[in-house]
Amino acid sequence: MLAMRLAAALDRSEAGDAQEGALRRLGLAAGKYWVCKRGSAHAAEALECLGGNGYVEESGMPRLYREAPLLSIWEGSGNVAALDVLRALTREPAALEAYFAEVSLAAGADARLDAAVTRLRTLLGELSDPHRAQLLARRVAEQLTLVLQGSLLVRHSTPAVADAFCASRLGGDWGQAFGTLPPGTDLGPVLERAVLKDAR
Ligand SMILES: Cc1cc2nc3c(=O)[nH]c(=O)nc-3n(C[C@H](O)[C@H](O)[C@H](O)COP(=O)(O)OP(=O)(O)OC[C@H]3O[C@@H](n4cnc5c(N)ncnc54)[C@H](O)[C@@H]3O)c2cc1C
Repeated sequence: MLAMRLAAALDRSEAGDAQEGALRRLGLAAGKYWVCKRGSAHAAEALECLGGNGYVEESGMPRLYREAPLLSIWEGSGNVAALDVLRALTREPAALEAYFAEVSLAAGADARLDAAVTRLRTLLGELSDPHRAQLLARRVAEQLTLVLQGSLLVRHSTPAVADAFCASRLGGDWGQAFGTLPPGTDLGPVLERAVLKDAR
């Protein structure tokens, strides 16, 4: 959903919409950092889902697992993407304004999202010292992405998916590995969304 929203922002920006261009500027740098950083862990979990069959070369999963780290090396490594977020925040104030204008469209829809927005604003307030800002760069990129993803899911996704995301990624109600969502999660619609219709 984040990818499609940023693709739309690119299209609209190229058609002359400056606010969409500003959203793309910050959203893409932050999203590139976080989504690519998640890629390796996601590939490992996907491989494990297939058990021994996933481990053997013929499954194709080992190739995806080996290649996943490349996501956060090329087209801007993790640190470089996080530093690019700081650059956008420092030099292009319109980018942060466009970001919060987008996120505010989901204001009031989920208390965990609203609380995450408040925490994010506090975090952004700690960036005036450049040294401290660099130490916080990864955390800032991560939180910018999670809040934007949460706001998009709340507005556009299946309610169960948005609820699981807000509970875990924004509300902190999960463990530190995949498969640790809160027990009350409505898993049916979450799984339904992930299953290819042709595979049924
Ligand atoms: C398979 C593959 C295909 C590629 N294809 C292309 C291609 O088609 N065209 C092309 O132009 N390039 C291509 N590249 C190059 C790719 O863009 C670079 O590898 C990438 O930009 C990282 O640069 P680097 O390898 O020099 O690593 P470095 O820049 O040396 O980075 C090494 C580490 O240092 C960190 N780092 C670097 N600078 C900073 C900094 N200022 N502050 C903090 N940390 C920093 C990085 O985050 C990284 O962890 C390809 C690379 C690979 C592996």
